[in-house]
Amino acid sequence: MSPSSRSMSGSRTMPVPATASTELPLVECFSSLQGEGLHIGRRQVFLRLGGCNLNCGYCDTDFRICDTCRFETTPGSGRFKAVPNPVSVETLCALLDQWLALAPNLHHALSLTGGEPLLHADALNDWLPVLAERLPIHLETNGTLYQCLPALMPHLTFLSIDLKLEATTGSPTPWNEHRHFLQAARSRPAQVKIVVDTGQDEEELVQGATLVEELLPAAPLFLQPVTRDGGPDVSGEQLLAWQQLLSRHHPDTRVVPQIHPLLRID
Ligand code: SF4
Repeated sequence: MSPSSRSMSGSRTMPVPATASTELPLVECFSSLQGEGLHIGRRQVFLRLGGCNLNCGYCDTDFRICDTCRFETTPGSGRFKAVPNPVSVETLCALLDQWLALAPNLHHALSLTGGEPLLHADALNDWLPVLAERLPIHLETNGTLYQCLPALMPHLTFLSIDLKLEATTGSPTPWNEHRHFLQAARSRPAQVKIVVDTGQDEEELVQGATLVEELLPAAPLFLQPVTRDGGPDVSGEQLLAWQQLLSRHHPDTRVVPQIHPLLRID
């Protein structure tokens, strides 16, 4: 089903199976532009799940699990209401059905983000078939919890997979986990993203590009300069040099900064 036809289907209330009642700890649900990678500029619903298994040095995401999460009241309004945690899929679907009726065709996909969404893979097994009736499901992941992926793959339309390199995260690169994850992701369209900073280890960059070429050759590799003070904090000259270097190992290597700081939106 195309994204637009799924959005059209949101103009009526979709059934919620009685079995899909598992609750999840959410951080927030809001409507905004996709600000990174291949689908940059598309309007998406973002569902941020609580908790993460990594501790990246540059992380600026609040993924703490609290007593309440926040739901945007109308798409893109920037106004939120508090909702008690954990949240049932029925509660979330009531919001989504309202948004899809209010703004047909607006949303391209529902993006599962975090934190690390796959920490909640068991509950997502119940949630994703229900959510996928409303919008295509994109997964944004740190690419480490590969054991959780196969059961969820039938419900995913697109994967955005990070490679977490030591020079930027401050922790040893989980190469083994990344290798298994890329192997498990082979049956779906995907992109791979590396956040880069000044002082990046070029050998690790090459190792990452080589891994993508070996396991997901059709996936574009995005070099995303780290964001500081509202903009990319790596020189254009440096980014061009890294793109030239990595293109020898993975031809479809692109450079794209985050756009949210430029537009001053979340
Ligand atoms: S994986 Fe993502 S959410 Fe988790 S610590 Fe790293 S940057 Fe933050």
